[in-house]
Amino acid sequence: MVKMFIESMKNLVSKPETIKYPFEPSPEPKGYRGLIIYNEEHCIFCDKCENICPPGAIKFEVVDIKSGKKQYNYNPYLCIYCGACVSVCPKVNEALMQSEKRMPPLGRAVYKEEGLGYFIKEIDNPKELERKWGELEIRAKESREKLSVYKKQQRLKKQAAKKEASS
Ligand code: SF4
Ligand code: SF4
Repeated sequence: MVKMFIESMKNLVSKPETIKYPFEPSPEPKGYRGLIIYNEEHCIFCDKCENICPPGAIKFEVVDIKSGKKQYNYNPYLCIYCGACVSVCPKVNEALMQSEKRMPPLGRAVYKEEGLGYFIKEIDNPKELERKWGELEIRAKESREKLSVYKKQQRLKKQAAKKEASS
């Protein structure tokens, strides 16, 4: 009886074992495949993550044709959290890592987290997300084409200059 009383008193002051779902989200289990986090400082822009991504949730856009500077864009609402991009990254856990953080549902606001790339930073209204991603895909493709044309022109110019110098 005394033991039961002590146990009841302990339970009265101790933290509950259960969580207040749905008011509190349930914690992610260890090793949960969550959001992909990117660090531009360590990226070597090899495009391997973009090429392997099954739903096309990573897109690099060339933002300066002359220098070839690219920007990483990630759509966490398109991502299927397979981890393929991280497995293929030569700078794994430096440029790209898979966190254990769950993606909150797309509600009234778009979830913004450090390391999610440029695309998410520019989205203020969730209704714009799909349309803006579509626009980005077109822009990214066009920027690659422009870069390839620019590189070809530069190569031809160099060849012409070499030819002229040797004649
Ligand atoms: S986890 Fe899979 S779906 Fe998500 S960005 Fe990486 S490769 Fe693409
Ligand atoms: S695979 Fe890694 S290093 Fe290559 S572009 Fe993607 S993030 Fe950068």
